Amino acid sequence: MGQHNGIAANGDGTAPIKGRILVLGGGYSGLFAAANAADVARECDSPLSITLVSKDGYLEHRPRLYEKNPDTLRVAVGDLVEALGIRLVVGVATLIDVRAKTVTVAGVNGTQVLGYDRLVLATGSELRQLAIPGMAEFAWNIDSYKGAKAFDDHLKAIAGALAVPANNTYVIIGAGMTGIELAAEMRDRIEQHAGAAAAQAARLILVERGARVGPTFGDEPRPVIEQALKLANVELRLGTGGASVRRDSVTLTTGEEIATATTVMTVGMSASALTEQIPGKRDESGRLHVDDNLQVIGVEHVYATGDVACAYADDVNVAVMSCQTSRTMGKYAGRNAACDLLGQPFRRYRQPDYTTCLDLGRFGAVFTNGFDRKLKTFGPEAKKRKRWINTEVINPPNPGPVDRIFAEMRIDERGR
Ligand SMILES: Cc1cc2nc3c(=O)[nH]c(=O)nc-3n(C[C@H](O)[C@H](O)[C@H](O)COP(=O)(O)OP(=O)(O)OC[C@H]3O[C@@H](n4cnc5c(N)ncnc54)[C@H](O)[C@@H]3O)c2cc1C
Repeated sequence: MGQHNGIAANGDGTAPIKGRILVLGGGYSGLFAAANAADVARECDSPLSITLVSKDGYLEHRPRLYEKNPDTLRVAVGDLVEALGIRLVVGVATLIDVRAKTVTVAGVNGTQVLGYDRLVLATGSELRQLAIPGMAEFAWNIDSYKGAKAFDDHLKAIAGALAVPANNTYVIIGAGMTGIELAAEMRDRIEQHAGAAAAQAARLILVERGARVGPTFGDEPRPVIEQALKLANVELRLGTGGASVRRDSVTLTTGEEIATATTVMTVGMSASALTEQIPGKRDESGRLHVDDNLQVIGVEHVYATGDVACAYADDVNVAVMSCQTSRTMGKYAGRNAACDLLGQPFRRYRQPDYTTCLDLGRFGAVFTNGFDRKLKTFGPEAKKRKRWINTEVINPPNPGPVDRIFAEMRIDERGR
């Protein structure tokens, strides 16, 4: 084990380093945080050592993991990160010591301890773990690339045996955004591996413990969602949840037992368990309370961003765990961590514009505006927007001149 002191992110590598920023988590927030820290160092002509710890060197497009072809839903970021002068460490952060200002990272070549002057925690979220017997062993998920790939391999594996009714029955537990998008997409997913007839015959069941689907959706978009699920012939079980899962069946809390080879959990997300190692206050999802500069309240030199941060998006609303939030928040967190080290003014995080675009499969999509989710548009028009978001907006910049990449990753004129 050795202490790594970092490389110069700026200059020719001989100028003394003015500080070390360590970003944990290579998702949207971590990537944008590291890039913006490097951008500030460049602007100020001050060498900072910026290190990004990514578990595998890929940016996973988690919002797209309900789609087909999971192999296309992650992007290697090594070249991009290197072009920006950021050091990439591939490994899993296991231990944060805020007193010693070190993080232990386990990689394929062993364990190393990385020191920091400013830490940016951006390790995202994970599928909420519920005390449902059999969930860990037998339920599928689309929470990460690994989960989505295993789920897709399973769909492929059972595709030849769909004449057995249980094999062509799919139970999705949790009718939030992810569960609804997956339910609406399922017939296309089955068709890809087993053909149109099997997809048409499939039984799809969406289970929700609330009284309506999309409990956090407002009343305006919900009728559209209900219509789309009806057209997709999705059976609903409302006011109930999963009680136990087995390889070939699931039992609901009502006592109903459904024979199925495929139970998928889409029951929401909790902040990464690393938040527990930071001695700050956390919300009910495990997110750390941060101030307007995204510093963890009461913990010196630690910033949190994306799904691990509980921040005000405006004067009333707390930011939602989402892709748009995590990218923008990452920009502010990285920028502020660098400004902090270089004695530059902070930029206060605010992101008052919040929109949602929910994929509804063959029906199209539904697009809402605001934290109260006012219905803006739905059907094919909203679907065009969803495709644009999924295939363009959320991608990291293409390779090319560094100035252009920094400009694309910077806080824009609308503060996003
Ligand atoms: C199926 C699904 C659908 C979604 N749909 C939408 C949508 O339509 N719109 C929307 O806005 N949002 C959507 N979301 C939410 C969105 O994906 C997240 O809010 C967003 O990805 C959060 O970004 P992040 O950078 O904070 O965290 P993440 O994207 O979770 O990235 C964190 C990264 O850190 C890694 N990591 C975790 N722990 C460690 C560790 N100890 N060491 C090293 N690395 C670690 C993780 O593996 C991950 O790669 C969806 C999420 C899912 C799962």
